[in-house]
Amino acid sequence: VETIREPAELRLILDRVRATGIVGFVPTMGALHAGHETLCRKSVAENDVSAASIFVNPLQFGLGEDYQRYPRDLAADQRLLQESGVDFLFAPDAAAVYPPGFQTRVIVGELSRPLEGAARPGHFEGVATIVLKLFEMVGPCRAYFGEKDFQQLQVIRRMVLDLNVPVEVRGVPTVREADGLAMSSRNRYLTTEERTAAPAIYQALLAARSLAERGVLDPDALLQEAHRRLEASPLIKPEYVALVDPDTLRPVVQPGRSAIMAIAARVGAARLIDNIMIRPPDSRPSAD
Ligand code: AMP
Repeated sequence: VETIREPAELRLILDRVRATGIVGFVPTMGALHAGHETLCRKSVAENDVSAASIFVNPLQFGLGEDYQRYPRDLAADQRLLQESGVDFLFAPDAAAVYPPGFQTRVIVGELSRPLEGAARPGHFEGVATIVLKLFEMVGPCRAYFGEKDFQQLQVIRRMVLDLNVPVEVRGVPTVREADGLAMSSRNRYLTTEERTAAPAIYQALLAARSLAERGVLDPDALLQEAHRRLEASPLIKPEYVALVDPDTLRPVVQPGRSAIMAIAARVGAARLIDNIMIRPPDSRPSAD
């Protein structure tokens, strides 16, 4: 994997690729794990040349969040990208990304407001802005995003549609540890005890889904079941548990609709998120 720091150099190389082939792109913040690796391998399998980016984007972190202590390990990340078969690592300096006097922002409306948008004011403005900037630096491509960050995926799909961005967005199912915990760079913050407790988040999602599969379709009952499971774990402090429409992210109030159940919770120093698709019993043709 060749590491590139300059946006103009990246664009030049990828423009040459595009003369004959398709570019795959995987944006990340580094501290790479098997979830990122899955996105990278998919990109490598589906495109002629693949680039991953590593940029810890200050704009998407709120005051008091973990921007300063976010894990950074470029050498380990380069090894993982090398093994995944990615051709280029784009790792720009903050100065190349945010020029002096920077004052432009991308705001995606309604989709940005609930869930993570409500819990982290300004977060999706930061995400949409950096992702559009990265798309401009990379150029037309197929871009890969994890369903683990479901709202982010929907916000980016919306932005690409609304702003005629020449990028095809592909979502990738959540990659989990053996015990179900969704892989995340932030899992590194967990103590041994907290790490043992953390899978309860996924267990709560599974419990709600299995209730729905057994015909319990009242949204409140499903939310209560998830809350009950989380409360059994004293180390887990839920921030929200929500049942939302997959397309609009509005709360699901009608029983029996397909929905995303999303959870955000504090576990020690980590703030973890996860989600699952919940379908009523008569509409489960494909797995998620
Ligand atoms: P991050 O480095 O956390 O910003 O994530 C970069 C990309 O990897 C995003 O599209 C995430 O949704 C995706 N991602 C992170 N964790 C996972 C996971 N466990 N499974 C699948 N995709 C993931």
